[in-house]
Amino acid sequence: MKENRLYRDFFLHFDILVMVGIFLVVLGFLFTMELSLFSLLFFAVGIVTYMFSEYLTHRFLFHIKSPKNPFLLNLIKRLHYDHHKKPNDLKLLFLPIWYSAPNLFVLCLLFYFLTGSMSFTLAFTTGILFMFFVYEWKHYVAHRPMKPKTRFGRWLKKTHILHHYKNENYWYGVSTPFVDVLFGTYKEGSDVEMSETAKDLEKRA
Ligand SMILES: [Zn+2]
Ligand SMILES: [Zn+2]
Ligand SMILES: [Zn+2]
Repeated sequence: MKENRLYRDFFLHFDILVMVGIFLVVLGFLFTMELSLFSLLFFAVGIVTYMFSEYLTHRFLFHIKSPKNPFLLNLIKRLHYDHHKKPNDLKLLFLPIWYSAPNLFVLCLLFYFLTGSMSFTLAFTTGILFMFFVYEWKHYVAHRPMKPKTRFGRWLKKTHILHHYKNENYWYGVSTPFVDVLFGTYKEGSDVEMSETAKDLEKRA
C-alpha cells in the first residue's frame, strides 16, 4: 500500500479530523494564557492520565461482559466488540466522536473544578489530546500494513496483535503496554494460551 494513502486514511478520517479541530481550538486558547512551568507539569499530568484511562477503559469498559440491554449491547459492539471481530476494518478502528468528545469534555470540566484554573485546565486538556492522538496513531499502525521504525514501536504493535490474535485478557495498553506490566496483564506471548473468544467477545461466558 502506498505510504501517502496510509497517512491520508488516518488524517482524513472524520473522527480524527474533528478531534484535530478541537485540539487546535484548545491550543489557540492555551497560547492566549500566561504559561509557566506549571503548564508543562499539567500537560504531563494530562499525558499520564490518558495512559491510565486508556488502559482502564479498554480493560474494564470495552471488555465488559455482554450487557443484556440491547441498546447497551449495540453501544459496546460499536465501541469494541466489533473491532475484535474485524480487527482491520477501518470504520471500526477509531474511537467514534460521540464517545471521545463528551468524555474529553467531562474529564476536563472535572479538572477545572478541581484546580479552578483555566490555564492549567487547557494545559491538561492539551496533554490528554496529545496522548489521544498517540493512541489512535499507534492503534492504526498496529492494524495496517506498516512496519514501525523503532524497537519501541514494533513492541507496541506486537503486543496489540497478541491482544487480538492470542488472548484478549492480556495486553490492554495500546500506546503504553507498560501499564500492563504494572497491573499484571503483561506476559510473553509464548506464556499465554490461545483464547477461543479473542475474536468474539460476545461469546464469553
Ligand atoms: Zn470513525
Ligand atoms: Zn485493535
Ligand atoms: Zn480489546
